[in-house]
Amino acid sequence: MWLYLVALVGLYHLVRWHRERQVVSHLRDKYVFITGSGSGFGNLLARQLDMRGLRVLAACRTEKAAEQLRAQTSDRLETVTLDIAKTESITAATQWVKERVGDRGLWGLVNNAGISGPWGRNEWLTKQDFVTTLNVNLLGTIEVTLSLLPLVRKARGRVVNVSSIGGRLSVMGGGYCISKYGVEAFSDSLRRELAHFGVKVAVIEPGSFKTNMTNTERLFQHVQEVWDRARPEIKEVYGEKFLASYFTAISKNRLTTYKENLSEVTDCMEHALTACHPRTRYSAGWDAKLFYLPMSYMPTFLADAILTWGLPRPAKAL
Ligand code: NDP
Repeated sequence: MWLYLVALVGLYHLVRWHRERQVVSHLRDKYVFITGSGSGFGNLLARQLDMRGLRVLAACRTEKAAEQLRAQTSDRLETVTLDIAKTESITAATQWVKERVGDRGLWGLVNNAGISGPWGRNEWLTKQDFVTTLNVNLLGTIEVTLSLLPLVRKARGRVVNVSSIGGRLSVMGGGYCISKYGVEAFSDSLRRELAHFGVKVAVIEPGSFKTNMTNTERLFQHVQEVWDRARPEIKEVYGEKFLASYFTAISKNRLTTYKENLSEVTDCMEHALTACHPRTRYSAGWDAKLFYLPMSYMPTFLADAILTWGLPRPAKAL
């Protein structure tokens, strides 16, 4: 009985491995548009796909970042400046993409741009703090997708949305996890709708990686700014000691570590764009696979206990 079961599991993995190895043809003719190519995952992916011979259309928030990327890549890679929080910028970038891809359409759209945004305890934040993050991570992603979808449909291509493990488990206060839960929901409905047109949608869920976004000093600065303008009553409830311990918890990344090998994430993105049978979801990093994702299936009381373990208690906690 056990032998049959082991053989069945082995067979399943063999078939899956074989399916996932098949690569789409004519990669050199395929255009891929990546948002947030100025740094981090987006930057590495642009260079990686350029090396592989795809036609990369890399969107950077600033011209300086675009210039630096062009200097490191082949002449085939082209750049455009794009702020995904601004409709006029998205409209201009869409026109730019249209002119390049012509009748071939756009094979790949990678919605990668994102911010950590103002964060801290929910109670320390204002509505505008949430709006700032949602505007980029969620509404920006949605607007870029809606704008470029006709071109993706034409190519029967791929949409790759960068979510986070924070889109499966709300690990901190503020708009970040909310925005990533939104990206997951958007991707789910989009996947079902676009299947009719031969378009595939994949979601990337990285764990913690070392990029500009997770730079500890930047994170400290965000929390400090939010704390500085919090109401006096809030400061009294939590206390300065709480803030200091909160900083320590961030700098140590209490539960996992920030990994340096960003290709663990970009390899998933590349697979989603180039495999005949891409996955629906990719977890990138051991912490995502072995820690956060399993925890998201645990009973809530258990997940809550793990996530709050070792965290400081507010001064006026019961
Ligand atoms: P980076 O900060 O290095 O990259 C984010 C990129 O997005 C930057 O190039 C940034 O440009 C750009 N960007 C920010 N705001 C806008 C905007 N309004 N319009 C256009 N571009 C913008 O961080 P990562 O590489 O880590 O982040 C990439 C994605 O990965 C994000 O969606 C993030 O949420 C996700 N992620 C990251 C994890 C990690 O541990 N690092 C974990 C899980 C998910 P600029 O620098 O000029 O502002």
